[in-house]
Amino acid sequence: MSENCTHDCSTCKENCSERKIPIEKLNELSKVKKVIGVVSGKGGVGKSLVTGLLATLFQRNGHSTAILDADITGPSIPKMFGITKKATCFNENLIVPRKSASGVQIMSINLLMENDTDPVVWRGPVIAGAVKQFWTDVVWQDVDYMFVDMPPGTGDVPLTVFQSLPISGIVIVTSPQELVSMIVGKAVKMANMMNIPILGIVENFSYFSCPDCGKKINLFGDSKIENVAKSFNISNVSKIPIDTELAKLCDDGKIELFTGDYLENMLDIIEKS
Ligand code: ADP
Repeated sequence: MSENCTHDCSTCKENCSERKIPIEKLNELSKVKKVIGVVSGKGGVGKSLVTGLLATLFQRNGHSTAILDADITGPSIPKMFGITKKATCFNENLIVPRKSASGVQIMSINLLMENDTDPVVWRGPVIAGAVKQFWTDVVWQDVDYMFVDMPPGTGDVPLTVFQSLPISGIVIVTSPQELVSMIVGKAVKMANMMNIPILGIVENFSYFSCPDCGKKINLFGDSKIENVAKSFNISNVSKIPIDTELAKLCDDGKIELFTGDYLENMLDIIEKS
């Protein structure tokens, strides 16, 4: 038994011999050095967009990067990267992820569905099972950084995903109009329970810059994110404004052409984590 074992497999991340919820193993053709989870308290706050921007940033900086889209009921990663072709089989058991224009390896449920608009009407354990298979049954080629677009919230599915993948750190995405302190608090507690470091918080929809005078307008009132981050001992905060150019690039499947530097500070922190 590992000396860090908490004797409670539902929260412990140690992979000791007595573990009841095993951390899933990669297949022998795959290699992934570091797995970073991108989490949010609810859907629609920009978690997928942040996942896409982080992957683009890391790939651009010379890291072999991948995205595992674990948001099974709201998969938006392939569209953001303009991927329309389906994933292919490597052999009877393994799937080849698709590569984006800049070379990001991507696996998402939409790469397996016949129609992008088909809904996934599955119960929690089946959804969690699909995510585990994205880890075990996909050929991930020499990945330095894998970003996992986690299912939103802190319920059963994200918890199972947290327990099953070797996540080494998380980035929390929030928006100013959420009950920020409470939502961040829940994510922080979940990460702490599992001894997963919090690498940073991203406040999305943080402000809007007037296109005429450049003045920053806090549409949702003054940001509280710095204070919230401080209260949870998180030193790394990024802010993303409402950006119409970014939204258009995502809609057009061209997120990799975005040149803004909103998440630049995350690069260093994640590289050193
Ligand atoms: P989530 O993954 O949290 O459900 P998404 O990342 O899919 O949310 O974002 C929801 C929608 O909002 C998408 O259409 C996305 O392009 C848009 N969006 C997200 N963040 C921004 C932003 N900062 N500026 C403009 N549009 C944004």
